[in-house]
Amino acid sequence: MSEPAPTGDTRCGFIAIIGAPNVGKSTLVNALVGTKVAIVSHKVQTTRVPLRGIAIAGASQLVFIDTPGLFQPRRRLERAMVEAAWSGVADADLVAFMLDAAQGLDAAAISIIDALKEKKAAPLLVLNKIDRVPKPRLLKLAAEANARLPFAATFMLSALDGNGVDDLKAYLARQVPEGPWHFPADEVSDAPLRLLAAEITREKIYQRLHDELPYRTAVETTAWQEKKNGVRIEQTIFVERDSQKSIVLGKGGQMIKQLSSEARQELAEILGSPVHLFLFVKVRQDWEDDPERYLQMGLTFPKR
Ligand code: GDP
Ligand code: MG
Repeated sequence: MSEPAPTGDTRCGFIAIIGAPNVGKSTLVNALVGTKVAIVSHKVQTTRVPLRGIAIAGASQLVFIDTPGLFQPRRRLERAMVEAAWSGVADADLVAFMLDAAQGLDAAAISIIDALKEKKAAPLLVLNKIDRVPKPRLLKLAAEANARLPFAATFMLSALDGNGVDDLKAYLARQVPEGPWHFPADEVSDAPLRLLAAEITREKIYQRLHDELPYRTAVETTAWQEKKNGVRIEQTIFVERDSQKSIVLGKGGQMIKQLSSEARQELAEILGSPVHLFLFVKVRQDWEDDPERYLQMGLTFPKR
């Protein structure tokens, strides 16, 4: 059952979190929401689809759009990811631009700042990973970034240990527009559960097999049935070659068993009910050029 939203002077707004890959966007959304909604990984480009996390702060509902990293797109899939990221910016009430303070203003960061100059309202600056950088360097970085683009406000925090996250949350709660809440009070993500479930399995594959299988894997949830004794979920893992299929299956099916068990446990935790997970592996050459796969991932298929 959903709790009712408070009545009276409520606020609600969409906040897009943008930045180069690996700066900590997903970690921040998870810290703000207080539960795992976005996939965090040490590999870049883990987040393909803008996922929403929802946090409540007093009378404000904050809806976060965790965008795929903005980077120079080469392949078609990369272009779709970048387009999805910028569309998240266009839909947002507030935009937070995130920098890895240890990385500083590198070429990727500068090209995003330049693109942001052309957008409507001034974004916020979030310097992340302050646990790794001495204070004088942080202040210098904040000044340099603000000289390139006058940000509406600057925050310094560590999404990983939580330091400074509450200040940002309180600020956002004051800044989002007045208006009714868009989502029920107990909802933490409106990312379709099927998509979230696919992301979880994909994360397990990366964790175990990232050396053998870099980014050419897609996972789709193909069936979802709520049953008396739990949820029955079927997923297909798409790979590009037979050799990759053998890697995912492992000797005597050991690997896929392991992946399935890890994904199932995490899904059961998130859904709060037992999960019966069935994984299938399919070889689909050129899935990156197949419009249907993009649709399934919630992305628009770029024409070129
Ligand atoms: P995204 O690509 O921008 O979404 O980045 P992720 O949230 O996936 O994080 C990328 C990596 O940076 C992960 O290994 C995180 O654990 C790490 N990370 C994120 N925030 C912090 C932080 O505040 N401090 C440190 N030291 N590492 C962080
Ligand atoms: Mg991410």
